[in-house]
Amino acid sequence: MDQTPNVALLPSPGMGHLIPFVEFAKQLVNHHHFSATILITAAGPPTKAQKTVLKTLPETIKHIFLPPVSLPMDPNIGSQIILTMTLSLPSLRDTLASLKTTTRLVSLIVDPFGLDIFNIAKEFGISQYLFFTSPAMALQFCLHLPKLDGMITCEYRDLPEPIRLPGCVPVYGRDLTDSVQDRSNDAYRGFLGNVKRFGSAEGIILNSFMDLEEGAIKALQEKEPGKPPVYLIGPLIQTDSSDESQERPECLQWLDDQPSGSVLFVSFGSGGTLTHDQLNELALGLELSSERFLWVVRSPNDKSANAAFFTAQSQNDPFSFLPKGFLERTKGRGLVVPSWAPQIEVLRHHSTRGFLTHCGCNSILESVVHGVPLIAWPLYAEQKMNAVMLTEGLNVALRPKSDKTGLVRREEIAMVVKSLMEGEEGNKVCRRMEGLKDAAAKVHSEDGNSAKSLSELAFKWKNQKNI
Ligand code: UDP
Repeated sequence: MDQTPNVALLPSPGMGHLIPFVEFAKQLVNHHHFSATILITAAGPPTKAQKTVLKTLPETIKHIFLPPVSLPMDPNIGSQIILTMTLSLPSLRDTLASLKTTTRLVSLIVDPFGLDIFNIAKEFGISQYLFFTSPAMALQFCLHLPKLDGMITCEYRDLPEPIRLPGCVPVYGRDLTDSVQDRSNDAYRGFLGNVKRFGSAEGIILNSFMDLEEGAIKALQEKEPGKPPVYLIGPLIQTDSSDESQERPECLQWLDDQPSGSVLFVSFGSGGTLTHDQLNELALGLELSSERFLWVVRSPNDKSANAAFFTAQSQNDPFSFLPKGFLERTKGRGLVVPSWAPQIEVLRHHSTRGFLTHCGCNSILESVVHGVPLIAWPLYAEQKMNAVMLTEGLNVALRPKSDKTGLVRREEIAMVVKSLMEGEEGNKVCRRMEGLKDAAAKVHSEDGNSAKSLSELAFKWKNQKNI
């Protein structure tokens, strides 16, 4: 058997989970001579976005597509993700058994949706780690939820005062993660049960770094019984998102022709969708702002804010939902692309000045690494909490206000866009983001904190005795 230490990585479905796992695997392989096997669960065939990411992997990182499971209809994406992982357990067991006999398997790393597999890992004597890909504040919330559940009897969203988590900016109940918005729902019980199991991990790997969330991280690092040690390894972001074998994408060619620092990038992650009314207002707001923009558009969905989560693609032609004449009127200063853009290359491009984002955890880190200030437009999962951290905690984002019906109107959009692109407020958030960019650049250097944490983990795993 090859004696290279091998780690098995199990991200839950969704590009936002796969990408940081791939980057973590690359760190172990490139800097610590590990091999890695990424286990991919799904309810359908591999998506184009997945294939593009996996195509770039070196020989030492293998990936295994587990047999797709069949899911019952359920509008709750969180439940669908957990179910995909649970239904994949039999094939995961077989795969782990085979990896255990054919490689020197030293650790299994899962995200918060995959904790069911811990029991199997334990049976096989494999050490088990949780990779938490959301911010430290979200982790702090998860670890405190059992206590909050015992102390608070009403819905969190009805609390008149914000919740004060140690080291974190205060957050109103309505801004907490979607899964806790209705305590009578099964999704809440499932979420609570899941976070209670975080303690069974031997360690929690966190994709963040000290300067980004100092208060929350220091609180997380305080030792408490039943709380696993936290390893800070961030910010890990994907280095390339376009397919090099293909021609340079049109949107990058378009950016090449724009003035430096003049374009707002607008994108809602791998699966975010707006209602038809909101899509309309956003289009008209961008038009009204007179600023340059590059917008990744998906077909609207009036029922769900993450309708494209599993596919990252639109079901219909998204352009057909835009206001009449919008494309013609904004031609030249605006470019609209359907469903997907090479986000890293866009954020890195000198023409990009700002990013209107749904506040997904990868999008946040990618913006920080490239020093791009934000407009926070949270949609689902823990994104509202992330938006609070970005606007009130870090002051690196502006946040448009919605009206009583929940709609963000075109005038508000135009005002916030102008403010970020040209105003004094925009300059302030831009300077703060630059500061974070500088701090982020240091943590992966040889004596940087994230590099040290990774070495610590690698040392531990390499010296582990196999059972
Ligand atoms: N992404 C991309 N192009 C797109 C949309 C998303 O490359 O058009 C990438 C983005 O760079 C990020 C990931 O997909 O790495 C999305 O992760 P995030 O955590 O921001 O949001 P999620 O999709 O998980 O809600």
